[in-house]
Amino acid sequence: MKTGFVRRSVVKFMPGEHLEDALGAAKTLKPTGINTILTRLGENLARIEEAKDVFDHYLRVIDQVKAAGLDAQISVKPTQLGFDQNPEVCFQYLVKLADHAIAANNFLWLDMESSKYVDGTIALYKRLRERTPKVGVAIQAYLYRTEKDIESLMALGSAIRLVKGAYMEAPSIAYPKKSDVDENYFNLASRLLQPDANQPGALLHIATHDIGLQQRLQRVIAERNVPKDRYEFAMLYGINSQRQRDLAQAGESIRCLISYGEYWFPWYMRRLAERPANVSFVVRNMFSR
Ligand SMILES: Cc1cc2nc3c(=O)[nH]c(=O)nc-3n(C[C@H](O)[C@H](O)[C@H](O)COP(=O)(O)OP(=O)(O)OC[C@H]3O[C@@H](n4cnc5c(N)ncnc54)[C@H](O)[C@@H]3O)c2cc1C
Repeated sequence: MKTGFVRRSVVKFMPGEHLEDALGAAKTLKPTGINTILTRLGENLARIEEAKDVFDHYLRVIDQVKAAGLDAQISVKPTQLGFDQNPEVCFQYLVKLADHAIAANNFLWLDMESSKYVDGTIALYKRLRERTPKVGVAIQAYLYRTEKDIESLMALGSAIRLVKGAYMEAPSIAYPKKSDVDENYFNLASRLLQPDANQPGALLHIATHDIGLQQRLQRVIAERNVPKDRYEFAMLYGINSQRQRDLAQAGESIRCLISYGEYWFPWYMRRLAERPANVSFVVRNMFSR
């Protein structure tokens, strides 16, 4: 971050490395009708003791969000909370975070990481969901298994953040062709918007920047008269920002996920991989002042 071109390239996607930067961005977005989700970057830990720091941090985030009067949810990766070292300790941290979130009228999301964590993350989510509806989980449309996963999650009345998927996965488990991922996304989202999916606690986050896909789903929503409290749009900070404002202006519920933190490298590489044009943006920044 100390190198000028890196800073110029990364700030396109995150307002800064500190929680204060993310809260500042959330405050700026609020009057435009855009609510937020906050996540501190970081994933697999070296030692379970590091999970305590992450847990304490998110407790502070929930408190500061409440003090600032923001509607900013939090989103965590199980591996940030020690899932690799001890899934049970990770679960206990999640329970306490969910309890703290509920007390502050907030909401806890679980990010979905690479395919080896899908079973574990869904299992964590289901145990949390038994305790409270104020938790949600990200589910990836590029995985063949997701069609089955959403059926079991739907039966519980789950908050689901449907994403295309950001990790490099083998063709044996994930659709290799982008057009197939897009179509599967549409089919899964349509399924989640059917009347029988409308269990107490059910919520769909349409988490994509794909405007064509958003519009197709808006048509499904209109045709089926899906109530406004059943779905929200969710997009990442700095990506298609005008579209985020347009959705808010059109009266849609839209959340912007704001990332912050020092450990941004793997996350930033995923953002570059999603769109080759971003790489030329970095290169241009290397040579501009
Ligand atoms: C709120 C939210 C939470 C997410 N959480 C997770 C998660 O927990 N686990 C996970 O695996 N993935 C997660 N993702 C990432 C997701 O899986 C995709 O990798 C990412 O959203 C890009 O796919 P897309 O749906 O936007 O569609 P794409 O087809 O990739 O992109 C559609 C359009 O969006 C724009 N766009 C997309 N990405 C970029 C970019 N990086 N830079 C600039 N423009 C871009 C471009 O205009 C592009 O044409 C999340 C995404 C969002 C929005």
